[in-house]
Amino acid sequence: MTTVQAPRSDAASASAETFDSLNPATDEVVGTYPVHTAEQVEAAVARAREAARWWDSLGFDGRAERLRRWKGILARRLTDLCEVVRQETGKPRGDAQLEAVLAIEHVAWATRNARKVLGRQRRSPGLLLSNQAATVEYQPLGVVGVIGPWNYPVYTPLGSISYALAAGNAVVFKPSEYTPGVGKWLADAFAEAVPEQPVLQLVTGFGATGAALTRADVDKIAFTGSTATGKKIMAAAAERLTPVIIEAGGKDPVLVDADADLDAAAEATVWGAFSNSGQTCIGVERVYVHERVHDEFVAKVVERAERVRAGSGPGDQYGPMTMPAQLDVVRRHIADALARGGRALVGGADTVGDRYVQPTVLVDVPEDSLAVREETFGPTVTIAKVTDMDEAVAKANDSAYGLGSTVFSKRRGLELARKLRTGQTAINAPLSFAGIASLPFGGVGDSGFGRIHGPEGLREFARAKSIARQRFTPPLALTTFARTAKTEALVGKLIARLHGRS
Ligand code: NDP
Repeated sequence: MTTVQAPRSDAASASAETFDSLNPATDEVVGTYPVHTAEQVEAAVARAREAARWWDSLGFDGRAERLRRWKGILARRLTDLCEVVRQETGKPRGDAQLEAVLAIEHVAWATRNARKVLGRQRRSPGLLLSNQAATVEYQPLGVVGVIGPWNYPVYTPLGSISYALAAGNAVVFKPSEYTPGVGKWLADAFAEAVPEQPVLQLVTGFGATGAALTRADVDKIAFTGSTATGKKIMAAAAERLTPVIIEAGGKDPVLVDADADLDAAAEATVWGAFSNSGQTCIGVERVYVHERVHDEFVAKVVERAERVRAGSGPGDQYGPMTMPAQLDVVRRHIADALARGGRALVGGADTVGDRYVQPTVLVDVPEDSLAVREETFGPTVTIAKVTDMDEAVAKANDSAYGLGSTVFSKRRGLELARKLRTGQTAINAPLSFAGIASLPFGGVGDSGFGRIHGPEGLREFARAKSIARQRFTPPLALTTFARTAKTEALVGKLIARLHGRS
């Protein structure tokens, strides 16, 4: 991807200012993209408004046929897509493929289930209005703005985009400044499958371009990124009363019970904490382990973590930090943990290089330190001993964030999972909820709100439209000035019989 193709799906008119997308492993320029202005963003949204009408008019079948075409292109050109992801994020090809495969599953699920979830459904009209036929249908919102991050540049935005499209909306997508090439690849593939109208458009640039999208005439904003930017987006969207979905990262805990399969728990911890260089919103950042198995568990984690290496060679398990500024955050969290009595059993202060961060396993870290409280978004993990699982739940829940969590327990998995204040929990396997397209995904507290994926994800991009159709004249006419005292008395008796007995 050393040359930039003529834009087909991006906000068409030429932009004077451009920016380069770099390979974070080499600093090689892998693409140059326009910095779209507020006017260009507004023009893209105006075009999307037109396209949305056409897309809506196709109905579920017409949209499904075209979404399946898009899915076919994504699946057939998987290798090409993974290469673009690898170039812009530095992640190993296998990791790029994993996120792309899961994203394709979401496109497939949203396409297959849109009619069932959003199509017209009958509702009971109740006894008093039994002369009515009641239905609800979920109509598209119109134009959805999607602001995506760089850590999973295919999986994360498509978790919103594919559901918004399947629900009948047009989408204007602003990818992160670190991964514009992936955004362009996805939008171009869509334009190939749906050449008739600009149903999925791309706008590129920095935060200001995203901010312009938030202020534009869109019907919803779906954002993934930091809590701080999420708050800014919500404040800007409030000007037009534009609803927002905020997916703002986490500080995800793993709970390891005394009866847990410790090998599986250690494996999940190491993969969950270090894969993708820890740049995963549902990555493992904290572990709470029952005191009876703590030492054995820690030994298993250390033994595995020592074999994991960051780098861009064939034997390396994860790549560089995609966003250079993140190196300082990781450095600060490790330094704070060590300064406050924590010990690094693997890695430590000198693991943070210029691009790569080697794995760090921290123990004895105070619960009020940065590494326990703030999102690190790097390949580090803290492990703490607890006397029982109630303490583990209390400590896990003592966080401003609440995105994902994982429980390893043979007997109490479901019970512990239900007690955790997070949007989703995996039991006895790492992050499994993220791969199940039918499950809603979203946060609590500083992790945000709203749900993508599954039926809830489709409804998030639709508005409920209720219709009550009179089938025959009501025997008891209540909404008329011709209402009689006899009717009123009858209704009073009827309600007393129906509801007054308990
Ligand atoms: P941001 O939240 O700043 O950026 C996320 C997206 O929002 C990007 O596309 C960004 O554009 C855009 N954006 C930035 N400012 C605005 C604005 N005012 N209005 C509208 N859109 C805006 O996150 P960063 O990428 O800077 O990462 C910072 C931290 O966020 C990380 O350290 C990590 O902790 C967390 N994070 C969490 C993610 C998650 O999965 N939940 C994903 C990414 C980051 P641009 O990139 O062009 O600035």
